[in-house]
Amino acid sequence: MKLYDTLIIGGGQAGLSVAYFFRRHNIDYLILDANEKPGGSWLHTWDSLKLFSPTTYSSLSGWQMPQSEKDYPTKDEFISYLEQYETRYDFPVQRNTNVISVSKEHDVFKLTTNQGEFYSKTLVSATGTAQQPYIPKYPNQHLFKGLQLHSLNYQNANAIVGKRVLIIGGGNSGAQILAEVSKVAHTQWVTLEPPNFLPDDIDGRYLFNEATQTYLGKPQETSSGIKASLSNIVMVESVKEARARAVLHAKRPFTAFYEQGVLWNDNTKEPFDAVIWCTGFKANLKHLEPLNLIENNRIETQHTRAVKEPKLWLVGYGSWTGFASATIYGVGKTARQTVKEIIETL
Ligand code: FAD
Repeated sequence: MKLYDTLIIGGGQAGLSVAYFFRRHNIDYLILDANEKPGGSWLHTWDSLKLFSPTTYSSLSGWQMPQSEKDYPTKDEFISYLEQYETRYDFPVQRNTNVISVSKEHDVFKLTTNQGEFYSKTLVSATGTAQQPYIPKYPNQHLFKGLQLHSLNYQNANAIVGKRVLIIGGGNSGAQILAEVSKVAHTQWVTLEPPNFLPDDIDGRYLFNEATQTYLGKPQETSSGIKASLSNIVMVESVKEARARAVLHAKRPFTAFYEQGVLWNDNTKEPFDAVIWCTGFKANLKHLEPLNLIENNRIETQHTRAVKEPKLWLVGYGSWTGFASATIYGVGKTARQTVKEIIETL
């Protein structure tokens, strides 16, 4: 039985960021990744996706992403960067390896995978959120006879040309998918609150700077007088173009579904052929269930370290694992701290 110092579950940007900080240490570790090639969950996002962070804020520790063709990188440019990043530092990654469950035996982690068992002294879980799409519950949702899909499964608008499509969700995914679908279908956008668009002259860099200031308790107004947050919609080219076509209008949520569509607040009915849920994700922690640490889909952490299992670290899942840790720009800081703690523990 080979016993690794550390195993990292997940070879997306979070897993690679942890590996980057291992470079200067003599640690016997391995990254186990379910995908067949580099790119994390970016491999499975829709074809036309544009990152909301410009190149300088879409870089991982140590090596700046090459300048993208336009202001905001395409997903293919970012996947290519991740692939080059992995090759550049020669990280040990075993692909096509899905970790099904993790248990602990005699102070050693035992990982059961589709490729056999793996053992380690310490463990990093960096499995992202993409495998846990979140869809809010609405009355009579099960009655709706049209197509329902989450943004996770949306690839392009080919299958819904000419249809009546309801797009739900007020973040960057909702805005970008609306921009694309509205070119070929009749769309209605639904958001909980009026959508929060960043002014055109404020690019993603400001977003990260302002969000950081807010996080540090020093909120600042931008030059345009608005408060920027990481949940604002960045005006990438496709969203600006949709605004010019006057399709960026959102209604507040409906009250229920019926067989052909939805029921609005004023009790009027509106038929739809398809609903696209752009309503986000939850942490993918299923493999950790046997450790009995999960409460409300989270594990209690001190920074990234599990409080009740101090040889387990959780990286990249969102604010509960470090400020902006679910962004490309933010994950590095939490990865650095994680590695420091692992080295001390080993
Ligand atoms: P992932 O990329 O999901 O990687 C996790 C890896 O773990 C995957 O390779 C997966 O196959 C593997 N895995 C999962 N479960 C297992 C298992 N049980 N066993 C083995 N392997 C497993 N952030 C930005 O900073 N800028 C942006 O512009 C931006 N745009 C975004 C757009 C969308 C549509 C979304 C959803 C997110 C965006 N984000 C953006 C946020 C964030 O950067 C991404 O979600 C990013 O993919 C998170 O990286 P990760 O490594 O944590 O997870």
